[in-house]
Amino acid sequence: MIGDSIFEADLGRTAANFAPETPLTFLTWAAQVYPDKIAVVHGQKRFTYREFDQRCRRLASALQRRGIDVGDTVAVMSPNAPAMLEAHFGVPMAGAVLNALNFRLDAPGIAFILSHGEAKLLITDREMSPVIKQALAKQERRIPVVDIDDVLAEGGELLGETDYEALLAEGDPDFRWQPPADEWQAITLNYTSGTTGNPKGVVYHHRGAFLNALGNALVFGLSRDSVYLWTLPMFHCNGWSYPWAVTAVAGTHVCLRRADPALIFPLIKQHRVTHLCGAPIVLNMLVHAPDDQKVRFEQTVEVATGGAAPPSAIIAAMERMGFRVTHLYGLTESFGPSTYCAPKAHWAGADLETKAREMARQGVRYPTLFEQAVLDPATMAPGPADGETIGELMLRGNTIMKGYLKNPKATTDSLAGGWLHTGDLGVVHPDGYVEIKDRSKDIIISGGENISSLEVEETLYRHPQVMEAAVVAHPDDKWGETPCAFVTLKPGAKDVTAENIIQWCRERLAHFKAPRTVVFGPLPKTSTGKIQKYVLRQRAKEF
Ligand code: ADP
Repeated sequence: MIGDSIFEADLGRTAANFAPETPLTFLTWAAQVYPDKIAVVHGQKRFTYREFDQRCRRLASALQRRGIDVGDTVAVMSPNAPAMLEAHFGVPMAGAVLNALNFRLDAPGIAFILSHGEAKLLITDREMSPVIKQALAKQERRIPVVDIDDVLAEGGELLGETDYEALLAEGDPDFRWQPPADEWQAITLNYTSGTTGNPKGVVYHHRGAFLNALGNALVFGLSRDSVYLWTLPMFHCNGWSYPWAVTAVAGTHVCLRRADPALIFPLIKQHRVTHLCGAPIVLNMLVHAPDDQKVRFEQTVEVATGGAAPPSAIIAAMERMGFRVTHLYGLTESFGPSTYCAPKAHWAGADLETKAREMARQGVRYPTLFEQAVLDPATMAPGPADGETIGELMLRGNTIMKGYLKNPKATTDSLAGGWLHTGDLGVVHPDGYVEIKDRSKDIIISGGENISSLEVEETLYRHPQVMEAAVVAHPDDKWGETPCAFVTLKPGAKDVTAENIIQWCRERLAHFKAPRTVVFGPLPKTSTGKIQKYVLRQRAKEF
């Protein structure tokens, strides 16, 4: 036992050799080391690291003066503008917990979160006021509101008693914030999208946010020369922990209110952007942007993608446009990314298609994650690393959530047996790289055989006229289920028939995996840009 060791006697933990880990120290550090460096760009506005730090301290101090205390929730509804970034530091500097709201939710969704998360204060961008006004009308408590009157907002009612800049003016720019008494203290609250029933409130801790930020910086190669464009919404798992990661290297944050290719390409050129993140559909949008929007840039731009499986065709198309893709996997419960497809030496000589197919694997754990494994959820035993034996991907370590707010049953189930159960089914290849085959609820079972919907989609995306595809189970009397494909064709595609698509798949997949039914049209998406397979499953039942 370590307590009896000679290395324990008289060698205790003191303030000299132990401090709670928190990502808030990254900002203090950046402001001390690079006070005059540009930290934040927003339209014509610029904030140096000194100013960014002072604005966050002001926010923390003003919140405390208004009675916000340790452990209180502060909700923020804002696109990727400076106030949202500042909230990632200022709110926890006051000891409070940031609840970044998903601005694509409707009023009942927001109303549920404000009430379940017990927000003590709401800071909201004026453009979001129609939904917020309705959500507030549904509250039993009165929640004080602060309006963000952002220079780039396109109108919208002001709902609150005060304005964000006035709130900052109330605060002390030299406010001495206290680190959390315990690094396990809550830092943020993020709601999952709740495809079945009410969303769950995932609680993050300071320690995990600190570590995952550093994991991001290592895996994505961030440095003080990095210029990070905010194409990924900060409400999604706190922007996958990037507000803290970019600050940890004193990089430059370029804000962006809308992930629109017409804005993204010019900003990449203008600010010499080096890094950005986005779900595969954002990448697909960049790939299929009209030619006149695709402003050319000279630098290689690093793009991290995840949140859903990126088809290899999208990875390859991005690389052809001058981006270098890093594939990340993770979930809200793991502070965003936990896993990445670490680059391999032989990719340098490989043709793009082969490389992109390998890059489409989810890969290995972040260096900051303790362990990842594919286990049989019934026995918790690992299977062979043969690229075929399917199990559930499980994660454990210091970058896993504290649990779900006010939901002990869901927390216990999710963390049972000392692992986070991701609900994703995958295999381990002989090189140790994990490949996700499906979310457990999406896998198709046909004649007793498993069909990975992702594998069929991967084949569909390689069809030259297919822009988007999703495959779900279609009930079948004989086989139990058969694959049904929903397909959106590229603009200008012609003469593509269902038979044509089925034939394409039969030539490239085992015949039982090829879709039996093909439906053309737009695909329904969730508020975080994922295809809503449960809606498609419902539709597939109707024919
Ligand atoms: P929600 O559950 O609300 O969609 P999350 O962002 O937590 O929100 O979703 C996490 C899920 O997204 C994972 O469990 C997995 O199914 C999917 N996912 C994330 N990244 C990838 C990836 N790189 N490849 C395949 N699936 C992914």
